[in-house]
Amino acid sequence: MKAMVAAGLLAMLAAAAAAQTANSPASFSPGRLSDGKTPDFRGIWQVRDTAFANIEGHAAEKGIAASKSLVVDPPDGKIPYKPDSLAKRQMNARARATADPSLKCYQAGVPRATYLATPLQILQSPGNFAIVYEEKPRVRMLAPGAHVIGNADPNDASVPKIARIARSAERIAAGPEAGALEALVDLCSSHEGGARALDHTCIHAGDYGTHSSTLLRRGARREADVLRFASGAPCAASYEDLTPLLRALD
Ligand SMILES: [Zn+2]
Repeated sequence: MKAMVAAGLLAMLAAAAAAQTANSPASFSPGRLSDGKTPDFRGIWQVRDTAFANIEGHAAEKGIAASKSLVVDPPDGKIPYKPDSLAKRQMNARARATADPSLKCYQAGVPRATYLATPLQILQSPGNFAIVYEEKPRVRMLAPGAHVIGNADPNDASVPKIARIARSAERIAAGPEAGALEALVDLCSSHEGGARALDHTCIHAGDYGTHSSTLLRRGARREADVLRFASGAPCAASYEDLTPLLRALD
């Protein structure tokens, strides 16, 4: 959850930087929070540009006004895409009229939700940053089985990391019940998966990373339900048993 917020922060700072470019480069000078250092972004914000369609400079097309690039770094205003990523973006843009999830009333993820022309609220204190989006809560029906929910779409097997973690979770779920939750804790705490910190299950990448973890088991019988929550990186924080909260929902 907090990892998503971290991504939201990056998106918001990008949007703030974009606002500077669109107006005058030196016009945005936020106040400071109570610590006298942290820039104060609190308040209700709304994007008023076409970043939802393209944050690079683009010509007008049906339903989208032309815009200068909102990217301030690199200075040429172009995102340094890898060739396959650029091809994917262009494919998505061409299919926008039929494939854009927002046209099917799906909730936007982060960072796109930050670019949509609907208000958002920033809540902030030194060391803490949260964005509240206006969109409705998302309800997703999950079939029986193991599910891995992170920043990407749940169970999106096209994301190698999600596919790898999901395979491990399915193996654990298919095995004996005894010790399964402990095995899932080990999986969530893992720093395996490659040299890049972002490929690990538990991420430590500077200020960005895994700041909490939730394990939820819904059983066929209510007595089998379990909710455990770690309010920190799962490799370091211990999981609290919050199962009584599930009972409160019944
Ligand atoms: Zn860790």
